[in-house]
Amino acid sequence: MTNDTSGDVRLSGIAKTYGSFTAVHPLDLTVPQGSFFALLGASGCGKTTTLRMIAGLEEPSAGTVHLGDQDVTALPPYKRPVNTVFQSYALFPHLDIFENVAFGLRRRGIKSVKKQVGDMLDLVQLGEQARKKPHQLSGGQQQRVAVARALINHPKVLLLDEPLGALDLKLRRQMQLELKRIQTEVGITFVHVTHDQEEAMTMADTVAVMNAGRVEQLGSPTDLYENPRTTFVANFLGTSNFIEAEVDSKSGDDVVLKAGGGKLLLPGARCSAPTTTGGKVLVGVRPEKISLVPAEEAGEIPEGRNRITGRIADSSFIGVSTQYVVDSPVCPDFEVYAQNIDRDTRLVPGAEVVLHWNPAHTFGLDASQDID
Ligand code: ATP
Repeated sequence: MTNDTSGDVRLSGIAKTYGSFTAVHPLDLTVPQGSFFALLGASGCGKTTTLRMIAGLEEPSAGTVHLGDQDVTALPPYKRPVNTVFQSYALFPHLDIFENVAFGLRRRGIKSVKKQVGDMLDLVQLGEQARKKPHQLSGGQQQRVAVARALINHPKVLLLDEPLGALDLKLRRQMQLELKRIQTEVGITFVHVTHDQEEAMTMADTVAVMNAGRVEQLGSPTDLYENPRTTFVANFLGTSNFIEAEVDSKSGDDVVLKAGGGKLLLPGARCSAPTTTGGKVLVGVRPEKISLVPAEEAGEIPEGRNRITGRIADSSFIGVSTQYVVDSPVCPDFEVYAQNIDRDTRLVPGAEVVLHWNPAHTFGLDASQDID
């Protein structure tokens, strides 16, 4: 890490209203220099508006935007040390790849562009394609030209607005890794807007999950996945089961909860709800963390595991695992992705089963919220 802060993005109380509609509620956010940051959320949550306010393409209704130490709130886009890559590559069709990338340099009156453009094309691995026209390249290659063109003037921050949205799934996955590599090599701040949770988690160091104009949670992909603080975040990044439970007591670092007729353990550090006795907690557990055995084999489950009983309601084979839906007294429609299970005739609909998991894989949420 360096002490360079010139590529920090700092939003203070930034907001956007359109008439009586609030697209972005007052938002405070700091993106450190050199990080890969993703704004993640469903369509209409305000992520593009936030990005456009950083770019200067949208005027905030309130708040300030700092890039490094500079307050850029009143500056037009071209005076900000940022550039944007859009989903539509917007390449010049009549210019070849070299000239598309050289454009920004030539516009600034720079005559000797060969080395800089060559280096930039090498960075995006298109050195061999320099004399082709955009239509002769694949979608992924065209998007890499757009990235090269946006980087040629050395912005401090690169903004990416759903840049991979037009690509098919396989190409999108390749480009995710490619963009991550490019960001690591150039070392500048990338702020990336996407509605695709896998994309955000693959590429970003830090993800801000947005919902209805607010940042619902901010964190590393692992932290958001393992410690979601709301049902929205838990279900936007993957899926989760939820059990309504009540705090019974404490046992060391664990909270003991009552659910149905049984008890569940939850590490205190993984609970974002108050843990006073009698308090309500929504217990979350990811389907892939759960093991499932026929009821008659319950005696073989090791001590210390959380366990609940249920009955298979449905099952479907999905390749790497079998997905079971289990009805349980503590949670209807409990989802389990069971891996490495022999296709056992006892696990057909109606079979009595016991679900069990390591308490460390349990998280606790404020029970006053809706289960999204
Ligand atoms: P998408 O992925 O669909 O672009 P988004 O999360 O990027 O969604 P925004 O484009 O930021 O969402 O829009 C946020 C909200 O603001 C939406 O409800 C949108 O309809 C509204 N909005 C955006 N621009 C305007 C505008 N110029 N006038 C009125 N409402 C707008």
